[in-house]
Amino acid sequence: MNEYLKHDEWCIIEEGFNPENHRASESIFSLGNGNMGQRAMFEEHYSGETLQGTYVAGVYYPDKTRVGWWKNGYPEYFAKVLNAPNWIGIDVKINGEMLDLAKCEVSDFVRTLNMKEGVLERSFVATLSNGNKVKVEAKRFLSIVTSEVGAIRYSVTPLNFDGKIGFTPYVDADVTNEDSNYDEQFWNVLHAKSMKGEAYITAATKKLDFHVCMSMKYEVLKDGQKVDLNPALTEDAKYVANTVEVDAEQDQEISIYKYAAVLSSLNHSKTDIASDAFSVVEAAQAKGYGALLEEHVNAWADKWDHSDIVIEGDIAAQQAIRFNIFQMNQTYTGEDERLNIGPKGFTGEKYGGSTYWDTEAYCVPFYLSTSKPEVTRNLLIYRHKQLQKAIENAEKLGFTNGAALYPMVTMNGEECHNEWEITFEEIHRNGAIAFAIYNYIRHTDDKKYLEEYGLDVLIGISRFWSQRVSYSQAKKKYVMLGVTGPNEYENNINNNWYTNTIANWCMKYTQEAMAHVKETNPARFEEILKNLNFDFDKETAKWSDIIENMYYPVDEETGVYLQQDGFMDKEQILAADLDPAIRPINQHWSWDRILRSCFIKQADVLQGIYLFEDQYDLETIRKNYDFYEPRTVHESSLSPCIHSILAAKIGDEERAYNLYLRTSRLDLDDYNKEVHEGLHITSMAGTWMSVVEGFGGMRVVNGQLVLNPMLPKVWKSYSFKVRFRGNLLNVTVSQDGVGVINEEGEDISIFIQDDEYQIGKESSVVIEHA
Ligand code: BGC
Repeated sequence: MNEYLKHDEWCIIEEGFNPENHRASESIFSLGNGNMGQRAMFEEHYSGETLQGTYVAGVYYPDKTRVGWWKNGYPEYFAKVLNAPNWIGIDVKINGEMLDLAKCEVSDFVRTLNMKEGVLERSFVATLSNGNKVKVEAKRFLSIVTSEVGAIRYSVTPLNFDGKIGFTPYVDADVTNEDSNYDEQFWNVLHAKSMKGEAYITAATKKLDFHVCMSMKYEVLKDGQKVDLNPALTEDAKYVANTVEVDAEQDQEISIYKYAAVLSSLNHSKTDIASDAFSVVEAAQAKGYGALLEEHVNAWADKWDHSDIVIEGDIAAQQAIRFNIFQMNQTYTGEDERLNIGPKGFTGEKYGGSTYWDTEAYCVPFYLSTSKPEVTRNLLIYRHKQLQKAIENAEKLGFTNGAALYPMVTMNGEECHNEWEITFEEIHRNGAIAFAIYNYIRHTDDKKYLEEYGLDVLIGISRFWSQRVSYSQAKKKYVMLGVTGPNEYENNINNNWYTNTIANWCMKYTQEAMAHVKETNPARFEEILKNLNFDFDKETAKWSDIIENMYYPVDEETGVYLQQDGFMDKEQILAADLDPAIRPINQHWSWDRILRSCFIKQADVLQGIYLFEDQYDLETIRKNYDFYEPRTVHESSLSPCIHSILAAKIGDEERAYNLYLRTSRLDLDDYNKEVHEGLHITSMAGTWMSVVEGFGGMRVVNGQLVLNPMLPKVWKSYSFKVRFRGNLLNVTVSQDGVGVINEEGEDISIFIQDDEYQIGKESSVVIEHA
């Protein structure tokens, strides 16, 4: 752990500059607006350790898969999110000397991420080797109103001299990826132009030819008045800049406002992209920094109004939940169904910016409750659009008849991960994609989604499962061989309980979905069957046979569901018995040793119990939890939240709370010692789940919202908002009881602690504790 950030309800604050924390801070203080994002690098030159990262949504590079022994079925490439041209740069010279925090004396350093307003701020005093002392204040944001625009205000005040302040605002396309194989560069610059007061670069990615244009404009103010400038222009092959110099007196603030437009060929024609970028940046400058900031702050206020969680009595927990919500809202806004959510969002390169099952299993519940239904719908449509590729992916592996295997890792529907035990075997991801459709419909009641998009996907997925199982004569049951469950610390196992469970559920749900479409829209139903060449009697009879005869491994003695057939043959030791010095085990043990151990990376059986909780009584949940939790090392960020929710379910408040702190402050306190690589964005949705579903006990049962709240002892109260079928409910849980306000929508009836309550439009209900 590394606890260097100050606790505050709305801000993340770093006081004092410690270069050792800089890379971690670059991740933690990242900004994004769904369309682009960047790490919190400094605007001015910095020669110390840094991971420069500027990312544009949907822009990636398919790098060649490198493996020792090629095997049929391996994906051709693995995708990389590309570090894009840097547009925030402003070099600063003080009487000719470059300002560089690695080379001068720094005091009064404060870096603040204001989550309420979506703004990154920094201030410090620097004494340069020429003896000049300056105060610097920098503030920047990526507009969530005009998502192609970013703006920076950067000011310098001489503290002990009269002299020259030089600014060089620039755009730099000479960028690399940290994870590139041979310092390769992935961009070709097409145009680089520098003119008085503005500059731009258009660059194209190698192989896929995505075009990106970054254009900038700026103005310099002294005493609040624009300075008439005569900049020196630089126009290199990959770098464009203007350099200006202003005379300043002691204590006189000189500020530069830099506006940037970041456009990509996802949204603009390649021929017009530069002129479009010019129009966007010109409009931004004409609107002005203050007006851009004001509309941005207002839009954030609106976002917070629907997604905030307020925790009273525990600032660390309050700050952490807001940080998680803030990062989720920065990463995905749901306006573009071509985009998805990479595990690191816009904060780092790891995981290649690709889509994982994390989206359906973790992010969907967050967006369902905190955003309009269209946001989640777009995430579902993303997968619908990739159905054909999922069918081709299954065909590559030998499946037929329209069976669909969605990739474990993807950018465009093709599998782009290069570990066979994950690509070929971690097939449970198909289940999460089907479950997300079910989850969306039970939450929004948008059953039409099935006939429009959902059923095609469900049929493809069920066809896959029906071919992936095999019938065991010995067991007289259907079994599933050679899989990897969510616990990636075991590969090529037989009968992973979770995978068998979710596969069976998929086939059952697909049958229910088919029955629904057949009843409500028979013509469309026939059309879907015809399009998919679906032999109704034969295929559904096969599914029913599998559903009835699926094999689930269970430990005879304890009745615990077994993670896989051979789990009890492993030496049974507990995580608490491990020497803390060898944790995390994935940084200390050989992979072989990990695979043979009983240690579990992340919720596996418990993931299944979490998803299908209503099928198990409390005793069964407790028994499985008590068996698996002590064997789980939580070395995936996706793990503690599921355990926290189940701990709350079985009334184990202490474990629920400790696991909540672990999930919510994972990055802020750097539990896994890797925050310098970027944030764990997708697990942040899990943190939200552990408050709302864990402590709040929120579920949807038979189409109704159910709350079973508990209040952690250290909290005075907490409150959250939930969108549910056209209603917006504001739930508060305090020592006095539970209150629910029906803020938007018609009358609604919900269950609170087993009793049903009617809540009228704009009315509320309060249940006092006895
Ligand atoms: C986890 C996977 C997850 C991936 C991306 C891995 O460490 O084991 O379940 O999909 O990270 O977050």
